[in-house]
Amino acid sequence: MNNQEKSRRIIHSIFKTGVKIGKALLQFFFPIYCLKCRREGKFLCAECADDLPSADTYSLPDWILASFDYKNETVSQLVWRLKYAKQTAVATEMVQIWHSRIIIWQKLAEIDRRQKILAIPTPLHWSKKMRRGFNQAEILAQNLIKLEPDRWEEQKNLLKKIKNTKAQVKTKDRTERLENLADAFVLKKNAGQMVRGRTILLIDDVVTTGATLTELRRLLLGAGAKKVLAITFAHG
Ligand SMILES: [Zn+2]
Repeated sequence: MNNQEKSRRIIHSIFKTGVKIGKALLQFFFPIYCLKCRREGKFLCAECADDLPSADTYSLPDWILASFDYKNETVSQLVWRLKYAKQTAVATEMVQIWHSRIIIWQKLAEIDRRQKILAIPTPLHWSKKMRRGFNQAEILAQNLIKLEPDRWEEQKNLLKKIKNTKAQVKTKDRTERLENLADAFVLKKNAGQMVRGRTILLIDDVVTTGATLTELRRLLLGAGAKKVLAITFAHG
């Protein structure tokens, strides 16, 4: 080993030690605890992740694949941390837990594998995105794509929300929900070229009635998309 190689190894090991110390300090000053059992290290430990209850999806159309039950406290806390506490690091864990619930990915595997799937996060109105600082659906989509980059291609700018609607949960009935959503979204100009003949996967954190996703799907199919499915972390 020559001197140059020796110094390179020394610098490398100092750097690695530095990273380890950095991580340990971060964990020391800002420890992460399992939301359910309070074990230190992750937002949700492996055991508690296995216990997360699946969503009951009988009321949703079959093209919406929702994974977890939003009524479960741990599930809603994960979503809350992602959305309101700005703990975007929680998204990485959510996506790993999500991806391990294999049934959904088996369904997706039936999709044509010759082309990349267009992954479209549900858009937020610009004012809401500005207030929150990010779109949680985009963050989930980005993390999902990282897991299978050869399979998906993110297209976050094809759809735009132009009306600041009230939360679908707060609407009284189906008629009000539909009125609330009327003309709320538009497809960008030239979107037709991008979506024609393509398989599209809409991505969102939570689905309630499915009305928003249905509206987005209608627009995309109208522009020539071949197939539109949606996945959401939770249903409730
Ligand atoms: Zn735990």
